[in-house]
Amino acid sequence: MEMDLEIKELQLPGIEQRRPLVIAGPCSAETEEQVLTTAHQLANGGIKIFRAGIWKPRTKPGGFEGIGKPALEWMKQVKAETGMLTSTEVATPEHVEAALEAGIDILWIGARTSANPFSVQAIADALQGVDVPVLVKNPVNPDIELWTGALLRLNNAGVKRIGAIHRGFSSVDQKLYRNPPMWHLPIELKRRFPTLPIITDPSHMGGRRDLIAPIAQQAMDLGFDGLMIESHCNPDCAWSDAKQQVLPEVLDFILDRLVVRDALEVTESLNQLRKQIDELDNHLMDVLTKRMRISREIAEYKKLHNMTVVQTTRYSEILDKRGAQGALCGMNPEFVKTVYEAIHSESVRQQVEIINK
Ligand code: PEP
Ligand code: MN
Repeated sequence: MEMDLEIKELQLPGIEQRRPLVIAGPCSAETEEQVLTTAHQLANGGIKIFRAGIWKPRTKPGGFEGIGKPALEWMKQVKAETGMLTSTEVATPEHVEAALEAGIDILWIGARTSANPFSVQAIADALQGVDVPVLVKNPVNPDIELWTGALLRLNNAGVKRIGAIHRGFSSVDQKLYRNPPMWHLPIELKRRFPTLPIITDPSHMGGRRDLIAPIAQQAMDLGFDGLMIESHCNPDCAWSDAKQQVLPEVLDFILDRLVVRDALEVTESLNQLRKQIDELDNHLMDVLTKRMRISREIAEYKKLHNMTVVQTTRYSEILDKRGAQGALCGMNPEFVKTVYEAIHSESVRQQVEIINK
């Protein structure tokens, strides 16, 4: 049984009408001056929600691990002086307690923490009975069940104002992105939980200033609900994630140029096109069913003549022929190969069933 989430609206302010929910601020709170300077500059640009890491999870020891509790005082000042809401990352029940006591308005669970069910459960237990919005970053590994699981643990503890932050996934062979977006994963999350707000974090995806604008635009084009972007009053000298932070005025520039699409309006012509797609999908299923039937007939023949199920030369011939054909039709040969591998594997499964009958 698919478990469901009980989701209440986050009730958080966006910036101006045409812009999405934006959470901005430095990767880490470093000094009182850095926090307050950045906060005032962001507030002047219309940002309503401030972020800063107080406790920093570092991949290796020896890096800057955050100021900890004393920095919570600076967050209180941000709130008092600018009126912005404040948010920070929590990884343990102690963080939760300290952050709530300091009046932090929004909590988020970081990517390294959401990958660990023990930690998430401990945080959920600490949040029992507390009405505070909690955003769950995707786990570092591309595992949507783990991401869903973290949301469910919080929800089961009574946290209803929940949202997700999509910050990309670690990958061994990607060069362009620090954490490739793998958009199909947050799209699948949205499919499972249509009312769950999903916020995109282009800073940790790109890992580079120049990638923030294009990723943010892509997120808007795909209909995601908001953005979390790292911004610092002196990015080059930041104590963590220096390469991906932008000046508040640069953030303002990026947000100004962002095209926020209107909520999808389903028009008659779109409906017509969708009908055609449905018809073609029916067709595809029909053809696949026929192909499987013939494949099962082949299995009967192979059984009768004591042949093996997989004939590798035949399989390579199909992959090559259809890959080339796909390329001629304007499709990526890799895509065609993936489709045929899937078809072939189902076909083999059905043939093995018959041979062993
Ligand atoms: C951060 O937001 O600064 C952070 C540490 O992000 P993530 O958990 O996505 O790596
Ligand atoms: Mn960061």
